[in-house]
Amino acid sequence: MSVRALLPFATALLLSVPAHGKQPTVIIDPGHGGGQAGASSASGYREKNLSLQLAQKLGAELEKLGAKVWLTREKDAHLPLADRVAFSRSHPADLFISLHANSMPTQWARRRTEGIETYFLSANASGEEARKTAARENAEVQAAPEAAGDDTLAFILADLQRSEAHVDSSRLAYSVHQKLVAATGATDRGVQQAPFYVLMGVEAPAILVEVGFISHPTEGKKLQDAKYQDLIVQALAEGVTTFLEQVGARDTKAEAEPK
Ligand SMILES: [Zn+2]
Repeated sequence: MSVRALLPFATALLLSVPAHGKQPTVIIDPGHGGGQAGASSASGYREKNLSLQLAQKLGAELEKLGAKVWLTREKDAHLPLADRVAFSRSHPADLFISLHANSMPTQWARRRTEGIETYFLSANASGEEARKTAARENAEVQAAPEAAGDDTLAFILADLQRSEAHVDSSRLAYSVHQKLVAATGATDRGVQQAPFYVLMGVEAPAILVEVGFISHPTEGKKLQDAKYQDLIVQALAEGVTTFLEQVGARDTKAEAEPK
């Protein structure tokens, strides 16, 4: 049974929850944490801190709108990627959002590369930059290869691609991405696909958002600014709301149609 079948009343968000329905549930995954700091701005602002700040703000916003929210981590602590996936499997949710900031390796590229990318899972990256981004975000797993065998990953990917959740992941990615680019005015680097470990095995519709390049001199500064963070959070919340309304309307219609 799909998660959606268990939670058919996603339209309850922003509305009163039907007596026979369930509250929409969201998992927010702040990237990195503890000794895994992730990327860093020129001034030393860490991706792990940005992702947690955004996750906490987004969680509060979605709770205000009526959703139930789980964060995979609530403090600055190391949480292996496999544990994030395991968390999602033990906490059935309507959707899963992993929050990150991107980075470039060289001074030349750091000065030139900025913008927002929203990813959903695919076995093959949508381009060379997407492949490198996934490799960077997956580095924690590659440092501990016993965490997941290749066969397991191949199986999970094949399984996921058959599922309705994969189609909905793409829908969620576009919904969130459009709002983000419109709200921030940041460079639109598009909705992309790549094999992110943290998205593999998540049964709910799942995306990974690179909210900007923390390594860019200007964008890195902006990402540290509370007001700019609020723009990002508002856009994420609107994207989530739109997605839940869309799938809620579809599932309600499907249930009403004769079998
Ligand atoms: Zn990251």
